[in-house]
Amino acid sequence: MAESGRLSPGGSRELGRALSATEPSPALETGQGCRAGAEVRVLVVNTGGTIGMMPQSEGLAPEANKLAGALAKIPILHDVTYAKETKLYDRLALGDDTLVLPLSKENKRIIYTIMELSPLLDSANMTPADWGTIAKCLQANYEQHDGFVILHGTDTMAYTASALSFMCENLGKTIILTGSQVPIYELRNDGRSNLLVSLLIAGQFVIPEVCLYFYNKLYRGNRVTKVDTESFKAFSSPNLPPLANAEVDITINWETVWRSNTTKKFEVHTNMNSNVGLLRIFPGITTAAVKAFLQSPMEGVVLETYGSGNAPNNRPDLLEELKQATDRNVVILNCTQCLRGSVSLVYATGKTLLDAGVIPGADMTPEAALAKLSYILGKPQLSLAEKRKMLSENLRGERTVVPIGTRITLKDSKFIQGIAKYLYISCKEELEAIRDALTPALACAAAKTGDLDALKALQNLGGNLSSEDYDGRTPLHIASCEGNLEIVTYLLESGATVYAKDRFGATPLMNAIRFRYYNILGLARSPGKCSSQQTIFSLKGTALCILALKGDIDGLRAWHLAGVDLDQHSYDGNTPLRVAKIMGRTEVAAFLKSLTKNDLQKSSATRVILKTPN
Ligand code: ASP
Repeated sequence: MAESGRLSPGGSRELGRALSATEPSPALETGQGCRAGAEVRVLVVNTGGTIGMMPQSEGLAPEANKLAGALAKIPILHDVTYAKETKLYDRLALGDDTLVLPLSKENKRIIYTIMELSPLLDSANMTPADWGTIAKCLQANYEQHDGFVILHGTDTMAYTASALSFMCENLGKTIILTGSQVPIYELRNDGRSNLLVSLLIAGQFVIPEVCLYFYNKLYRGNRVTKVDTESFKAFSSPNLPPLANAEVDITINWETVWRSNTTKKFEVHTNMNSNVGLLRIFPGITTAAVKAFLQSPMEGVVLETYGSGNAPNNRPDLLEELKQATDRNVVILNCTQCLRGSVSLVYATGKTLLDAGVIPGADMTPEAALAKLSYILGKPQLSLAEKRKMLSENLRGERTVVPIGTRITLKDSKFIQGIAKYLYISCKEELEAIRDALTPALACAAAKTGDLDALKALQNLGGNLSSEDYDGRTPLHIASCEGNLEIVTYLLESGATVYAKDRFGATPLMNAIRFRYYNILGLARSPGKCSSQQTIFSLKGTALCILALKGDIDGLRAWHLAGVDLDQHSYDGNTPLRVAKIMGRTEVAAFLKSLTKNDLQKSSATRVILKTPN
């Protein structure tokens, strides 16, 4: 890829000189007028865009060598007193392209150096070569700085942010792209606050991602798209909540922050493949147009499809072109034209594309998908199979791995987060989906071993303790089989239902009856634990009738000792005595008759709670 553009600090100083003098310094003592604080270093790479534009005869255009001088006159963006009193420029051998923010609430001094791309660009003029220039600048200055801010035009900022997110491998520091809708030189503008907050975040938080900050929100760079030309809120991240919100406080959504799971050295991959493109299908798109688009040298295409990834499946001509392209090893990635949501294979029209060799792109933005294609296809050492596999994977948090379902925070769950890290996922919604997938198995295991603390922990995470495993069994089923009164009590008090039926039709109560855990049956009978006493009694009646049917006198005696009235009706209106008579179980009938009215009254009044029979 050809190189375009050069970078220089502030447009006036030599790059090498600025870099040699950028060692971070510890907290400083100062004279009277200003407070010190730990100094951190941020590099600002000014690539152009509205933020630094001035009116020219042809309209707004970027103005070179002006930004640092202008910012130096804005007190919230430069603390002149601190610079003087601490002899900042002599001490660090800095030029006037370096400025210092007033002390932050977190007691930090953010010293930032501005470098400019030459020429400065309207981002509509940016090319992948410019992404390469920015990436190389980041690499050259990586060690000397704590964080990075890239000033960029909004028009293609989502493309650059996406591209840099892939190009920056093993990133361990914060990189933030920002810009503005109104030039920073105008009286009322969004540039000052966008720059200020970007500096504060880049200087004070390690968010090892390529981010985009705009109008109070920090987004993951490869999740955004420009949605508004008139509002200050120019960007949207439809499928991922912001990484941070800058309201009264700057709140980082740490659960969502992507972490690269590696200790490898930071490096940039600048060999982006330019033979990639975006093809948006529309009703009536001609085969000739598709055919022409897919011809050599095209190597990778983002196919923007309808809804959840659908293309017409009544167009064999079109599908044939796509199939022929994938057979020629052109990689085609399916992304939706919708702003929000994901490609899924619910419709036959989507499945058809899969059959033609098109790779589902989940909920990636077209910008991210294009950048990912360009990045992966720029790695000649990879086989086609490896490239296709990587396209389906989550490399930088650019796509959602598991279906989204929302509830509570998981920030304290080391276990779930450990799994999430292993699976390369990080956002709250994905974590919650994992929690929901694991809760049934974990809760059932805890119920089996009687681990009350584990159940409590799962519930604190927001796990649903009534959730069923693959057999439809709930933790209450398991605890009822185990006869663990403490666990059953906890589950019932947590809202677990005694009515849940497993795949064999058994409820927890039936399990307790089957294993003759009278303590649990007694608990279920007590007021407040179960909303339908009638159902329980009918279940008991049924269980008693079954015992009578089988001739199980011991079983009936146990119920009797547990204080249960054996003269109960089953669901079909029979009583144990009637069943015994009908079935000719004379011993059982005799036993039941032998229980005097007195005995029955006595036993039901006593409400004995027996321990397990074995
Ligand atoms: N055309 C400008 C650019 O992308 C728009 C902006 O910066 O907001 O550079």
